[in-house]
Amino acid sequence: RCCRRVKGKDLNGNSASSDLFNQVCYYLGKSPGFGCEPYLLRNLKELGFKEPTPIQRQAIPILLSGRDCFACAPTGSGKTLAFACPMLMKLKHASTDGIRAVILCPTRELAAQTTRECKKLAKGKKFRIKLMTKQLVGKADLSKLPCDILISTPLRLRLAIRKKKINLSRVEYLVLDESDKLFELGMLKQIDSVVKACSNPSIIQSLFSATLPDSVEELARTRMHDAVRVIIGRKNT
Ligand code: ADP
Ligand code: MG
Repeated sequence: RCCRRVKGKDLNGNSASSDLFNQVCYYLGKSPGFGCEPYLLRNLKELGFKEPTPIQRQAIPILLSGRDCFACAPTGSGKTLAFACPMLMKLKHASTDGIRAVILCPTRELAAQTTRECKKLAKGKKFRIKLMTKQLVGKADLSKLPCDILISTPLRLRLAIRKKKINLSRVEYLVLDESDKLFELGMLKQIDSVVKACSNPSIIQSLFSATLPDSVEELARTRMHDAVRVIIGRKNT
């Protein structure tokens, strides 16, 4: 049933089997596109991403199904897209409801890079994608920050939670990227205050990392809901 459609044409008139999402769908026997909008398929194509990497194949459907996810895969294996694609698909459209997705990165450089990548993927949509900069943290009141997706280090975000009335109660999608580093760098307290501020009970939480030490997994399990674990390669290399 779905195979026949996968062999047909996608929304852009391309051979559907050549694009990343339809490959994921084909692999899973799901309907093509998973409801993936044309803008995302177009952007993935423009960026030259033809086939999903193993971590993308595994993590995208889990996150789309609404499950929490621990994902461990080597550096350079495409983890950014593995969490950013389902994030954009879940959010569907820009809204004025406040912050709906948060990505935590261990360093400012990584946060800035992730912001750039999310913007490229979201090209053609009106999503407001913001990097938590020093200037932004300096603003008096962040309660009405026009933002759909916020990318930050835990330190800056905690500062904003404590002093600037930032509202994270509507966050539907939370990612801890390079989570091994986040925990290594002793950011547990800050991460916890972010997790606590993201009080939406139907939040989808995910943790992406190149290594998954038992201590990190144990810690994270106490804060996630029945998470699915995906490991590509070895867990502790
Ligand atoms: P990681 O976070 O796992 O270290 P990144 O998400 O930074 O890896 O991706 C590493 C590189 O691979 C980036 O240059 C990215 O653009 C590229 N990449 C990601 N997904 C794909 C894909 N499906 N096909 C080809 N290249 C990809
Ligand atoms: Mg990465």
